[in-house]
Amino acid sequence: MTVQDLAVFDFDWSLIEADSDATVCKHFCPNKWASLPPSAQRMQWTDLIDQTLCEIQDGGSSIDDIEKVLQRVPMVPSALELLESLRASNTRVLILSDANTFFIDVILRAHGVRDLVSDIITNPAYTDDQGRLRINRRILSTEAPHNCPNTCTVNICKGQELDRYIATHGPFRRIMYVGDGMNDYCPGLRLKHTDLYFVRNGKQLARALTTKPEVAGRLLVQVTYWKDHAVIVETVAKPAAVPSL
Ligand SMILES: [Mg+2]
Ligand SMILES: [Zn+2]
Repeated sequence: MTVQDLAVFDFDWSLIEADSDATVCKHFCPNKWASLPPSAQRMQWTDLIDQTLCEIQDGGSSIDDIEKVLQRVPMVPSALELLESLRASNTRVLILSDANTFFIDVILRAHGVRDLVSDIITNPAYTDDQGRLRINRRILSTEAPHNCPNTCTVNICKGQELDRYIATHGPFRRIMYVGDGMNDYCPGLRLKHTDLYFVRNGKQLARALTTKPEVAGRLLVQVTYWKDHAVIVETVAKPAAVPSL
């Protein structure tokens, strides 16, 4: 059996050039979005998006209208080239995101790349009994908390999700992770020195890693900073200098 490589992507600002939640909310509810209280004083993010989706649809906009806004969201430059090269090298592709199944699916399909992604782990979207698009937390408030000590939001711990994914589908020869947010730090701690960790320049995780030595110091993997996927395409194209597990 050939041992595969695994490529893990965060979605917002890592695979697409936007925050999908903010794009939808800003489009339909610009006033509410402009006056959002700071994160410490507002409701949990997934609940806030769910509540906003209800307001959007109760206000007369349809799921189709929401889809049309999502279909215009651009991908990160060179993302298509990267996904195609991962397919060509038989790398398994996982999206690990705090967005939701509906937004991710619509955007990937709009770019014709849904088939280049093996799996998506994120907050589940569903249709309620009034026919409205709704979002649930990946870990419901009624379920046991993840108790992760890292910078993970209450609804998803990407590190634990990655552990479970590897236990189910692995082992993998080499893992590459592409992220930008603080919730991409916990899965980064799972990476070995032979793996690849691509952190987006100018975003929250890059700021933490470059200004807080104690944060960067916990990583076993070397960090490659990026502004578009061209540098990742280049790195991935190099033959892996690591032996199989
Ligand atoms: Mg992100
Ligand atoms: Zn975590």
